[in-house]
Amino acid sequence: MSLSRRAFIENSAVLIAAIGVSDAAWPASAPMLSESDPTAMALGYKADASTVDKSKFAQYAPGQSCSSCALYQGAAGSSSGPCGVFVGKAVSAKGWCASYAKKG
Ligand code: SF4
Repeated sequence: MSLSRRAFIENSAVLIAAIGVSDAAWPASAPMLSESDPTAMALGYKADASTVDKSKFAQYAPGQSCSSCALYQGAAGSSSGPCGVFVGKAVSAKGWCASYAKKG
């Protein structure tokens, strides 16, 4: 194997590894959404859906949670993940907010 071919293969392996790491690392490194975030408060976000204020958010139904929401982008079985509403933050898979839309 020529030196340039070897260097190409080694560099490609490093690049593939770096892409894999950055892809997997983003959701894990995103800060968790705080319930006291102004948008979270406006939408009644709770990290534990069972604590949703049902007097203010009557549309909440037991069993609804981020993990079954169409806007949840976390991997299946993950404890948290990105959400289309709260860009740059991670939400709890067991959470809920008023933008909940059941996965189709
Ligand atoms: Fe959870 Fe869906 Fe609300 Fe995002 S939009 S916080 S995934 S219920």
